Amino acid sequence: MKDDMKTHVRQCDSCQRNKISRPHVGMPLEITEMTQIVWEKCSMYIVGPLRATERGNRYVLTFQDLLSKYTIAVPLVNQTTKAEATDFVNEILFKLGIPQACSNFRGEMFRQICKLLKIKKIKTSVYRPQSNGAIEIWHRTLAEFLRHFITNKQCAWDR
Ligand SMILES: [Zn+2]
Repeated sequence: MKDDMKTHVRQCDSCQRNKISRPHVGMPLEITEMTQIVWEKCSMYIVGPLRATERGNRYVLTFQDLLSKYTIAVPLVNQTTKAEATDFVNEILFKLGIPQACSNFRGEMFRQICKLLKIKKIKTSVYRPQSNGAIEIWHRTLAEFLRHFITNKQCAWDR
C-alpha cells in the first residue's frame, strides 16, 4: 500500500506542479524566547494582493498563536486598517478571546483597540526575519495549498 501511495503521489500532475520539494537540511536548534501559555503572544500578517475573487477578496489576514502555532487565515477585501481591525475583532477576538500580546498591528484604530483591551505590542525586527519563522513557513504552506486546490478560474481561493 505504501508503494502504491508513493507511486500515486509521484504521478499526480497537480502535486508535481504545485508542491515544492525541499531537501531535508538538519539545522542546529536555536533557543528562542518561548511563551508559556496558549494565546499569550500572537503575530499577525497581511498576505497579498492576490487575484480578486468573486466576493472581491484580494488579501489574507493571517493570525498565529506563537506557542501552539494555531493559525487562522481570513480573506480580506482590502488592506485598509479599518478592514483589518474589523476582522481582527470579528474573527479573532470574538471567536478565540483576547491575546496578551500581538505583533505587527498598525494604525490608530488598532492602537486604540489594543490599548482598550490591554494587548501589548510585540516589536519584530526587520533585520531578524527568523523571529517570525513559524508564520513565514505557514504562509509558504498556505500558498502551496492554494496553488494545489484552487479551481482553474483562480477566483475562488477564498472558499
Ligand atoms: Zn496530488
